[in-house]
Amino acid sequence: MEGCIFCKIVRKEIPARIAAENSLVLAFYDVNPQAPVHILVIPKEHISSVLEIKENHQEVLSQMILLAKRIAKQEGVDQSGFRLVFNCGADAGQAVDHLHLHLLGKRRLGWPPG
Ligand code: 5GP
Ligand code: ZN
Repeated sequence: MEGCIFCKIVRKEIPARIAAENSLVLAFYDVNPQAPVHILVIPKEHISSVLEIKENHQEVLSQMILLAKRIAKQEGVDQSGFRLVFNCGADAGQAVDHLHLHLLGKRRLGWPPG
């Protein structure tokens, strides 16, 4: 997608601090972290939100979760705990219309979220 900021990160047109990557998925540090560990895991393919996930996205979705698990270990939050979040739509505060999985950790996270 031409104007999509996360597609630009995938294409390396704008810089991001990469945490991990494979052929389908990219993980990078959030520019405005909401926790000491805050990483975004995205599909390299443009999918605009959870609502646009189709049956044929099963492989990329499982890769996103497996990569998030690997990064949780890498960042040392696998034992202390962490949260994986998809925001979808206005009430959830989705600001970027390219699917992204937030990985948050290294602090006590409140529940329910605000
Ligand atoms: P959302 O609110 O859509 O679930 O989350 C979007 C996230 O993307 C926010 O946490 C925001 O800080 C992050 N973000 C937006 N633009 C950029 C960017 O250009 N680079 C990085 N690394 N993170 C971004
Ligand atoms: Zn995109």
